[in-house]
Amino acid sequence: MKASPLFVQIVLDKPLAQGFDYIWDSQKLGTDPVIGQIVSVPFGNSINIGVIVKVNTHSEIEQSKLKAVLGLAPLPPLDSALLSLMNFASQYYIHSLGETIIPSIPQMWRKPERWEKLRLAKPSTDKKSKQNDLASDSEQLIGVAQLNSEQKNALDILLQKKGSEGFRAILLQGQTGSGKTAVFLNWLASVLQEKNSQVLLLVPEINLTPQLERRIRAYFPDKKIALLHSGVSEKQRGISWHEAMIGDAQIILGTRLAVLTPMPNLRAIVVDEEHDPSYKQQEGTRYSARDLAIWRAHDQGLPILLASATPSLETWMAAKVGRYEHIRLDSRAQGASLPKVHLVNTQDPQNRSSHSPLFTKIVEGAITKCLSEKKQSLILINRRGYAPVISCSACSWMSKCAQCSSCMVMHKAGALSKKTVLSCHHCGLVKPMPNFCPDCGNADLKPVGQGTQKIEDVIEGAWPQATVLRVDTDSSRRSKGAEELFQKIHEGDVDIVVGTQMIAKGHDYQNIGTVAVLDADSRLYSQDFRAAERLFAQLIQVAGRAGRSKQHDQASGDIYIETQHPDAAVFQYLLRHDVDGFLSFTAKEREESGLPPFSYQGLIHAEGKSIAKAIQFLSDLKSQLTERGLVHKGVKIYDPVPKTIMRVAGSERAQLLIESNSRKHLQELLEAIDHLLRQDSQGRISKASRIRWLIERDPIAI
Ligand code: ADP
Ligand code: ZN
Ligand code: ZN
Repeated sequence: MKASPLFVQIVLDKPLAQGFDYIWDSQKLGTDPVIGQIVSVPFGNSINIGVIVKVNTHSEIEQSKLKAVLGLAPLPPLDSALLSLMNFASQYYIHSLGETIIPSIPQMWRKPERWEKLRLAKPSTDKKSKQNDLASDSEQLIGVAQLNSEQKNALDILLQKKGSEGFRAILLQGQTGSGKTAVFLNWLASVLQEKNSQVLLLVPEINLTPQLERRIRAYFPDKKIALLHSGVSEKQRGISWHEAMIGDAQIILGTRLAVLTPMPNLRAIVVDEEHDPSYKQQEGTRYSARDLAIWRAHDQGLPILLASATPSLETWMAAKVGRYEHIRLDSRAQGASLPKVHLVNTQDPQNRSSHSPLFTKIVEGAITKCLSEKKQSLILINRRGYAPVISCSACSWMSKCAQCSSCMVMHKAGALSKKTVLSCHHCGLVKPMPNFCPDCGNADLKPVGQGTQKIEDVIEGAWPQATVLRVDTDSSRRSKGAEELFQKIHEGDVDIVVGTQMIAKGHDYQNIGTVAVLDADSRLYSQDFRAAERLFAQLIQVAGRAGRSKQHDQASGDIYIETQHPDAAVFQYLLRHDVDGFLSFTAKEREESGLPPFSYQGLIHAEGKSIAKAIQFLSDLKSQLTERGLVHKGVKIYDPVPKTIMRVAGSERAQLLIESNSRKHLQELLEAIDHLLRQDSQGRISKASRIRWLIERDPIAI
């Protein structure tokens, strides 16, 4: 151990670009400093955790002014591959390194007061046997021998060694049920044959992990799996992360945050449903886990597989131009054919049902037929609650939220609350349902529009003999959550399922005859240029829930889409299940209007007490950028605008969109903006106007 004092530079979870110098006392700490080590340090009046990014023999700052590192986490240092990823993410997403690293460390390891206890704790090693009891026998294990010829071909391509550089990005595109999962699990099995190797499997949603987890346990009975998503307890997340970090877990299965896990022996990455918007982190460092996974694979020289039935335009185009390899599966693995798509025009008076304004006769007939054939129906409506707004029949009062520029949603009494309430889905405010109009005293308050609860009611009334199950974030919040509800569907205890997009994804249901999408238009006409792309992906996904039966004699299922605009391109391509056609069409549209992926975007968010101030703040920024000559040719700065939901929880919000045909110019400009704004800010709050600002790279919601 060295006798002369050492200095370390440490990054903290603070929006400050550089790290802070501290003294390192090797004697007292019992070891020399190592880059990547997680430590505790005094900062202001509190103890913070930080990560060592530099070790120096001197400091620019006078030694008497420096404080000393207090303690070390009982963990190995974060490895250089992970730090390299963090550095990239920090630069690319314009957040400090500390803000990027520290939140990625599980809570359990972020509490220095517990480190001593954790140091002494014996790592539990009996987990493996316990885990494997959970593997369900019913889980179908499709080994290499059972793969169909298309799948085998896909696997062969994956197993080929290409070049000496290990990096490969492969898009595995195949309709839902075409056997993509079976292909990549067999691929991972072969990767995992190498001793101690690790693989990362990213999934978009925690609701999808239990089913995949069971499948993985069936495939890999002797491998340890680390689960990393918000559905596992903080403690378990801490344990899983540690197991991944020390190389003890071979399979790391998780949602977006898992991409930032230290994995010393990482050999392959799979991003399932790569198009899913939930890969984008929407707070803090607003990273895209898919994009970071690709960067990580590139940096570490690894293969990465992106799987989807409806690839994102970005990925699909990369495959088209040959930047990624493109493997396709075109038939459904078990021989079942794709469901038949029916577009139901709700404008047509002939289609209206006498039963309820919410259903067309056609959908009603399909549900009745399904019931008589003992098949399940799935009704999708993208809105939870009973009604999105209530209004007074005498005056113009509507249930507006006091804190937001949006309406409060009526929720009928149920598991969540004993009484009927109004709830704001933006700020969380909950109020009792008024008995009278607060403006005029009229007692006739009418729910307007429909949500899952209302549809559930209507269905129960129309088919009293049927068992109806509602699946949305409200009904899944209690007890075991969504998993329990999905289990009921799998076990056939339910005739009709009503749900939000939660039911649309990934689940391998076996007995769905009819899928009906109510009010499909609600998501089509939004300001966001990605609205049609998202709707298309969702409809293909939900259509894929029908007709997955293993019995070959079963019909393929039907999907009914209720719309006022059956001629819209998105529905016409859906009618033919033409994913590539839709993507080509969308690509052309985007190219003509210069939108991503034909350009690159950044978004400056501003929020404060008044929208006028937020807009002013952004206008000032825009003029400063132009005055200082920071805006390259080919970079377009739009005018600041209020956000779609302008007011949330009392804050008023605006945004400034920046678009560029050059990645580099955009990056330079965003960095310059960061620099400029920081000069007059404390953290990310402007000192003069008290506006809170944030820079976002590659926004997905505009
Ligand atoms: P995807 O991931 O494309 O949706 P999966 O891999 O989940 O498809 O396969 C869909 C269903 O078909 C699953 O129930 C799976 O067990 C089954 N399956 C996959 N491949 C085969 C195969 N070669 N033979 C029989 N069944 C298969
Ligand atoms: Zn009124
Ligand atoms: Zn609100």
